[in-house]
Amino acid sequence: MIPFNKPFIVGKELYNIACAVVQNGHLAGDGPYTKQCHELLGKMLGCKSVLLTHSCTGALEMAAILADVGPGDEVIMPSFTFVTTANAFVLRGATPVFVDIRPDTLNIDESLIEQAVTERTKAIVPVHYGGRACNMKAIMDIAERHDLIVIEDAAQSLMSFDGDRPLGTIGHFGCLSFHETKNVISGEGGALIINDDRFLDRAEIIREKGTNRSQFFRGQVDKYTWVDIGSSYLPSELTAAFLHAQLENAEAIDAKRRELFQVYSEELADLADRGAIVAPDADACHECNGHLYFIILKSLEERTELIRFLAEREIKAVFHYVPLHSSPAGQRYGRAFGDLNVTDQVSDTLLRLPLYYDMEKDDVREVAAAIRDFFA
Ligand SMILES: *Cc1c(COP(=O)(O)O)cnc(C)c1O
Repeated sequence: MIPFNKPFIVGKELYNIACAVVQNGHLAGDGPYTKQCHELLGKMLGCKSVLLTHSCTGALEMAAILADVGPGDEVIMPSFTFVTTANAFVLRGATPVFVDIRPDTLNIDESLIEQAVTERTKAIVPVHYGGRACNMKAIMDIAERHDLIVIEDAAQSLMSFDGDRPLGTIGHFGCLSFHETKNVISGEGGALIINDDRFLDRAEIIREKGTNRSQFFRGQVDKYTWVDIGSSYLPSELTAAFLHAQLENAEAIDAKRRELFQVYSEELADLADRGAIVAPDADACHECNGHLYFIILKSLEERTELIRFLAEREIKAVFHYVPLHSSPAGQRYGRAFGDLNVTDQVSDTLLRLPLYYDMEKDDVREVAAAIRDFFA
């Protein structure tokens, strides 16, 4: 049986959890492991400030509050993304405006963004699909011209780059996920990267239920109290303890995933060359973290057949996002910008193949061989 994904440990995850309980005696948030994760992530990303959250969803919600998005405001984003990209802003009363994606990168089509800007637009949320960079140069230029906040949904993008810049560190905010389906994991988990100093103080407060608790513990105020809106966005130390071991081994995780991605590319090159499938451009992916390997088929029917064919061989392959613009909540709370033909097409025909840290190269070869058999 080859599953689609499998949670894994690489180092001292379980030992760290024992230390958090027995040695540190600190299980709530913001203990020693959380601080060490902040330091490690800061070093890895070369960013000014990063705060662990309980999820990328939580990080997106914090970013929506910090960007001061409210009722009547519009936020531009792709429709081909996870629901929480949109939900974070709908929770603030704002309207997601869904823009189509590019057929080559499956990221938001930057050439459509400026036409979608209105006087109500407050922010742009680029989603780096599969860890492959959006055109951040174009997006930051548009944001600057129209005075918009850019929030990178970098849930899948730890250790991916746009040129020499880590994804998540380019916009005003970046949101990471450590969900067990991502590259570096802690079960549930995430982080908010804050690239603009003016948001730093408020970010700490919003993350700590709207209190100035962090300032109190640093001795900057003599009592802590309710000062702003907020919620509980910080993870438990148990989560941070697990995560710290994963972050220490992030290079190895990244290398392994890129290697498996490469084997898929080689094994499926013939099918792609003769036009049976569309596969990701391996050369264009050298700055990616191998988060996911997908193929694009000719039709929904063909994809359904292939999923069934692989399942008979005990291989689990899965489709991805159902477009948000035509979903029940997307229609109620959002607005589509023009036709979203690429989104609709890709959503029907994209298939994600198994890829996880403990997978062997031979497993990848087995999956590829099954796909070749399907087309034979
Ligand atoms: C996984 C994912 C999320 C949500 O991450 P959680 O940590 O599970 O909240 C958001 N956006 C994208 C693009 C994702 O892939």
